[in-house]
Amino acid sequence: MKIHEYQSKRVFAEYGVPIPKGKVAVSPKEAYAIAKDLGGKVIVKSQVLVGGRGKAGGVKLANNPEEAEKHAANILGMDIKGLTVRKVLIDEASNIKSEIYLGITNDREKRMPVMMVSAEGGVEIEEVARVTPEKIIKMYINPLLGLQGYQIRDIAASIELPRKNWKEFGIIANGLWKAYNGSDATLAEINPLIITEEETLLAVDGKMLIDDSALFRHHDLAEMRDLDTEAESETIARENDLAYIQLDGEIGCMVNGAGLAMTTMDIVNLFGGSPANFLDIGGGANAEKVAAAFRIILSDPKVKAVLINIFGGITRGDEVAKGILEAIEEVKPEVPMVVRLVGTNAEEGRALLADADMLTAETLVEAAQKAVAAAKEA
Ligand code: GDP
Ligand code: MN
Repeated sequence: MKIHEYQSKRVFAEYGVPIPKGKVAVSPKEAYAIAKDLGGKVIVKSQVLVGGRGKAGGVKLANNPEEAEKHAANILGMDIKGLTVRKVLIDEASNIKSEIYLGITNDREKRMPVMMVSAEGGVEIEEVARVTPEKIIKMYINPLLGLQGYQIRDIAASIELPRKNWKEFGIIANGLWKAYNGSDATLAEINPLIITEEETLLAVDGKMLIDDSALFRHHDLAEMRDLDTEAESETIARENDLAYIQLDGEIGCMVNGAGLAMTTMDIVNLFGGSPANFLDIGGGANAEKVAAAFRIILSDPKVKAVLINIFGGITRGDEVAKGILEAIEEVKPEVPMVVRLVGTNAEEGRALLADADMLTAETLVEAAQKAVAAAKEA
């Protein structure tokens, strides 16, 4: 789960990372009032869950409350990479001398968190990583030992951080690590961590991704979820406990079990189709869950055919069939559907579906071929 900049920075601040004073506004008038409170010179920042807001015109410096109001009016409602801006963060402006990149993520190959740091932070960090990767320093963190003092000093020396900032940097690096570890994050990033003209360090931007599977033990973080910026299909999937990932193909897949879902996608590809999604309805799915899954698939306008592949173990074929009928009744799909039902109560399931307008298949190969052909015809 992604959380907004203002939320990430608040989490960082709880762990001792210095952040600018600021508040969120949802209207230009509110932006004016906050800017006035902060002394006039502020930065107006769109709160959307994508990177590169600065380059997209979603971050603007204001010299007085009037300008803050004007920028807020322009930025609120703006479309940034397909997301509509509904909130702006009004932060006290800082005088930037230089910008550092500081981030932590998991390195799957090394099986360890890794801290990445660069003296050339800011909006061009992707470019730095591409052209001069040696300018990004990596420090692996042993999850049992945590980030060590010597590692922090090593990093500070490597990026040639002025000596007088080392102590602050230690507090920030440690704070970021504690925030990352303590929140079960998969990314915690400050870009930029600035050195101000006054020669102090300040985290002016923040980004955090939280591991969805750990949210059950972070209710405070779970509550930060912004439904506004989530596709409706993802909300429905989460509420119904369905593992759903949208892809850009044309064959909607409804499968039980992650392994079978992967196999189904592979076979669709093998026969020249491309899956519109990964969807695992899980073991023991009931009619209600199946109907929700169906609604999600059919809400994707790219879907030209639906392939339902159910291997009944704990999941019962008749329950799946009931769910499908329920959903058809409600959604009235116009795309062709292919169903393959085997295992527990498959007979009963097939009998229930006999009158529905669906193609049936005995094997997965046959089902995939029929779905691909149907999608091509459509
Ligand atoms: P991003 O583009 O989504 O990563 O948004 P950032 O918050 O990182 O802002 C983009 C850029 O705006 C930063 O790299 C800074 O150069 C600049 N910026 C952000 N905050 C301030 C500020 O308080 N004062 C000034 N002068 N520039 C800022
Ligand atoms: Mn940034």
